[in-house]
Amino acid sequence: MKRTVTDSSRPVTQRPTPPAGPPPTEPQVVAPPRLTFGAPRRGKPPRHFADLDPAERREAVVDLGEPAYRARQLSRHYFVRHVDDAAALTDLPAATRARLAGELLPPLLTPVRALACDAGATHKTLWRLFDGALVESVLMRYGAGARNGLGDDGREPDGAGPRTAGGGRTRATMCVSSQAGCGMACPFCATGQAGLTRNLSTAEIVGQVVAGFRTLASGDVAGGPGRVTNVVFMGMGEPLANYRSVIGAVRRLTDPAPDGLGISQRGVTVSTVGLVPRIRQLAEEGLAVTLAVSLHAPDDKLRDELVPVNTRWPVAEVLDAAWAYSDVTGRRVSIEYALIRDINDQAWRADLLGELLAGRLVHVNLIPLNPTPGSKWTASRPADEAEFVRRLRAHGVAVTVRDTRGQEIDGACGQLAGAERER
Ligand code: SAH
Repeated sequence: MKRTVTDSSRPVTQRPTPPAGPPPTEPQVVAPPRLTFGAPRRGKPPRHFADLDPAERREAVVDLGEPAYRARQLSRHYFVRHVDDAAALTDLPAATRARLAGELLPPLLTPVRALACDAGATHKTLWRLFDGALVESVLMRYGAGARNGLGDDGREPDGAGPRTAGGGRTRATMCVSSQAGCGMACPFCATGQAGLTRNLSTAEIVGQVVAGFRTLASGDVAGGPGRVTNVVFMGMGEPLANYRSVIGAVRRLTDPAPDGLGISQRGVTVSTVGLVPRIRQLAEEGLAVTLAVSLHAPDDKLRDELVPVNTRWPVAEVLDAAWAYSDVTGRRVSIEYALIRDINDQAWRADLLGELLAGRLVHVNLIPLNPTPGSKWTASRPADEAEFVRRLRAHGVAVTVRDTRGQEIDGACGQLAGAERER
């Protein structure tokens, strides 16, 4: 795997800078990944309809010599019917179809592998982008008819989906990637090990969700045909390091149909390592999305290691920004905490975390660590996990343990792309 080092990278940790070393074409000794903010400059993906807001779409069709109302027709096709091939644009004159589709609906995502598990309730796709970069997305069905006994992952039923005939609630969550690779270098995360390849465009993010709508409509997902009700930015990448594209994507996802996909803002979760200025900016967007903060340790000493960006914005600053977010938006913040055996799962750390969070509009999601290939770390013992939960609850903090989906298909956290690169 070739690592890309860019001019714009700004290392901010004390980590030793890898020596200039051999040119990237030769095999390299794997150095610990460096924290990288700026995305390497690479060719941009072709412009797509979903990159544009409604006014820009009208301009784009007019620039192509078509009446402005064609923009709304295309919106219906893409955001409501989820189609993008020229032949399906049946309300457009035949001559116009190929041209508009060719200019505004270029294929951006090519499936490389598609895998299902959890009795058909979890579908994972590895996508190749126009330049060969690989990203993953995962579709997870919860609730009635999805998978017996699996039910819900314990999150609030915010933005939950329609009720099924049987009266149960079905929720379909699409986990999307916002970058190819990631520059945040968290040592327990598979994506973090490979470094950042590039930012995704808005349309490359939206396209993952549109693909999820198609998969759900096909009826191939356990629980029968349905819609995407929730989107979590918990695939590859640090969403707030690709801020503009991610905000564009959130708007396309949540704008009411036919301008967008019509997903409830409350059904969208943006997960971050804690880029404080961007959290504060997100609070001002007027979006009621859920903020998830990947904390993983309540103390700076350990968090510096687990989430290297902590050396820039320590725990106290990240939590201040999170509370500001909940003040402005009224939204309960999620704290993500991967439980790693004997690393961050001690009772005293549970107490410290409980003290930091007590009395706040907050919810803790404990995630049993999904060990990455070659990792020296593993998930906590059940007894330690139970004690961690108990102590948080004793501080009055809402807490759930995330169900771990997709493990048999390398379902978590960049592992599929990692496996593909090694083939
Ligand atoms: N960069 C963002 C979103 C992507 S990761 C962020 O860090 O929040 C989504 C969540 O999965 C994060 O909380 C991340 O820390 C967690 N995660 C990554 N690798 C993991 C692993 N091997 N086991 C459990 N959780 C992991």
